[in-house]
Amino acid sequence: MTDVFKAAAGHLRQEAEQNLGVRIGSGQAHNLVAAALGYKSAAALRADFRSCCDDPWLGQKPANVSAIANLITRMQEPAVTPSQAALIGEIVLDGLTPACAICGTMDRTNFPLGNVEPGDTRKEHEWTCRTCAKNDNGLDVCHCCGPIVIFRVEDIDDKGLCEMHKGEFDFDLDEERDAESLIEYWENH
Ligand SMILES: [Zn+2]
Ligand SMILES: [Zn+2]
Repeated sequence: MTDVFKAAAGHLRQEAEQNLGVRIGSGQAHNLVAAALGYKSAAALRADFRSCCDDPWLGQKPANVSAIANLITRMQEPAVTPSQAALIGEIVLDGLTPACAICGTMDRTNFPLGNVEPGDTRKEHEWTCRTCAKNDNGLDVCHCCGPIVIFRVEDIDDKGLCEMHKGEFDFDLDEERDAESLIEYWENH
């Protein structure tokens, strides 16, 4: 089992214990993660991902809720019920998504910092949660990229531009600096 699946199984076990009050065994948790991704078993999942190990975008697709429900009905002494399949799917997606680099939250609505195309796995990126993005937690936006793309403060130069747009435009700092834009944007999304 590669790290991303291990992390998702661990997250599922922790959430189940804290929020559902049930203990899911390690084997069951790994099989539930596999089911959420549409696989019959953890072994089948592992076989398919032998070459591709830690895709950070796995949590962005919908979970296969019926596969989770089917698995639970086939389980011996399941810790959870088929009616909890949708919830389990959401927890698995949270666990498959990279944790927020600022606060550590695992949430499927986390997103990568900087200019990263969805699905880009070419290099490892830091991800952040929406709460940290909203709270301006050492994060900033680039005047050119707009409010959707969030950067570390240190990755934005004194003209308010990212590495990609550095030197491209000659903004007047006093007139263009709009510290509210980040907060406003995230309050509405
Ligand atoms: Zn966060
Ligand atoms: Zn930019």
